[in-house]
Amino acid sequence: MSDLSKRWHAIDAIAISDACEAIEYGLMEAGALGTETNAAGSANVIVSGYFDLDPDVELVKSVLLDALRIYNFAPASLIDLKVREVAARDWLAEWKKDWQPVEVGRFIIAPPWSDVTEPGAIATGSSIDRVVIRIEPGMAFGTGTHETTRLCLKAIERYFRGGSFLDVGTGTGILAIAAAKMFPDARIEAVDADAEAVEIARENARLNGVGEQIDFRAGSVDEQTQSADLVCANLTGPVIVDLLPSLLGTSCGHLVLSGILDSQLEVVQSRLLELGADGFEIDQDGEWVVLVV
Ligand code: SAH
Repeated sequence: MSDLSKRWHAIDAIAISDACEAIEYGLMEAGALGTETNAAGSANVIVSGYFDLDPDVELVKSVLLDALRIYNFAPASLIDLKVREVAARDWLAEWKKDWQPVEVGRFIIAPPWSDVTEPGAIATGSSIDRVVIRIEPGMAFGTGTHETTRLCLKAIERYFRGGSFLDVGTGTGILAIAAAKMFPDARIEAVDADAEAVEIARENARLNGVGEQIDFRAGSVDEQTQSADLVCANLTGPVIVDLLPSLLGTSCGHLVLSGILDSQLEVVQSRLLELGADGFEIDQDGEWVVLVV
């Protein structure tokens, strides 16, 4: 980070203001290390994504169009894309300084360089113990800023009572780390289809002092997966529908499903009923839903 001669690349995406969140999400999906959003007139925004390596604009564009589709926006919501080169010191230091810890219930998600500390990290006057989770931003999905991650953290705080925990699609490892820090005696397993994410999650777990407690594995749930008291799967609606039999099979307590858009909720619910699972609770944040079976 001390290499100030290093050049970074920014992609400026001009879009309609309503699609701002979809564009921010898309830029992160396309590999941006961070984003910054500024108004551009009354109806539009400029969302800048910062990239370590020279990004392939066509590829970024196709990821952004996918993101717009996921959020139900027309392709024309993205008005223009421009690439720009920036000096490292222009944004990295600023961005780090501006990165605020994200609070979700008792959890505080902070980057490694943040100086928040555990007890009394934030003066709330409440009696519950605060748990700081340190995550290196921009490496994999799950930095605490996304609604689905926050919905899952809330469900974990509410329903995990120790024992065993399975995190399907662990990304940065954030949910497994949260469960491990809540219950140091719990048996925690975390899987991800993406082997690179598993490496990042392992590193984040070490950073949080729970590297030994979590069993990370590249892969997914299948018939061989050990059952757990709480199974958390923050994936996407269609992937959850596919995996539901295995997910239900491995959970012997609560099953937390997220990454589901409210438009996909009905399909997931009817598949659950088909499989004989009834009695679920729903929580929502924006268009994102969590379902606790
Ligand atoms: N648990 C994190 C990350 C969720 S993103 C959080 O809540 O923030 C979803 C992750 O699931 C991605 O890292 C992706 O690689 C992984 N994934 C996608 N499909 C999967 C599957 N079928 N099995 C296991 N992991 C999967």
